[in-house]
Amino acid sequence: MPCFDPIELAEKVSKSVTRIVNGVEERKYYRFRGGKWYGGIATGDVVGCNLRCKFCWSWRYSYFTNKGHYYSPQIVYMKLSSIAERRKYRYVRLSGGEPTLSRKHLLSLLELFEETNLLFILETNGILIGYDKQYAEELSKYRRLIVRVSFKGTTSEEFEKLTGADRRFYDLQFKALENLIDAGLKPGYQVYPAVMLSFSPEENIQKFLERLKEIHPVLPEEIDPEYVILYPHVRELLRKYGLKPRIAYTPKGIPDFMI
Ligand code: SF4
Repeated sequence: MPCFDPIELAEKVSKSVTRIVNGVEERKYYRFRGGKWYGGIATGDVVGCNLRCKFCWSWRYSYFTNKGHYYSPQIVYMKLSSIAERRKYRYVRLSGGEPTLSRKHLLSLLELFEETNLLFILETNGILIGYDKQYAEELSKYRRLIVRVSFKGTTSEEFEKLTGADRRFYDLQFKALENLIDAGLKPGYQVYPAVMLSFSPEENIQKFLERLKEIHPVLPEEIDPEYVILYPHVRELLRKYGLKPRIAYTPKGIPDFMI
């Protein structure tokens, strides 16, 4: 299968998951939930993504955009803050797909959380923030925001193999960190890297850490490692692409297989 351009795909997907109603940008979501991550967090799962990760746990909603319902930032704010209040959480987030695809929607939502005590974790692949410095500058205005840039592999070759996107776009993930730090976000606290390590040999991980260090010395220390969780629908996807993780976990957190 030929590699794709994730910026072009972002434009296309954005059109099918975003709509304007009375001047307000609405985004498609497929569910709202509470959960144990980050010690307790209210989550809105969005539809649509500009990558096609072959280990994606939400591929039925990130690859395809026909499911889900449109919500305004105001309704999303109400849903997330009510889950957080009921369960006494400190955090809210968008997950499931790529939240940066609906820019105005995301910025309006962040604006609403500015007046709360909740912290908003933006989980992103960082491609659009790396591509457009101004996007990072716009995000930097929000005091309740923490950005978690999730790298898809530790080298450009891994990135291409894992996501299907052209390897030339891998650097945009590093650029996202740079743009956000340049815009004033504090590295290690307001912005930090996560990385999928299930498929990476040790030498590639070392090279990756060196690259992070060149951006800011604190970043390799604040990394959030990610490993594939072998839900049945994730196993199905890995099998389809003939991809075998070196390290993976069962949904109960038990190491599954190492090759
Ligand atoms: S970037 Fe995230 S949501 Fe998008 S395909 Fe990859 S794992 Fe799934």
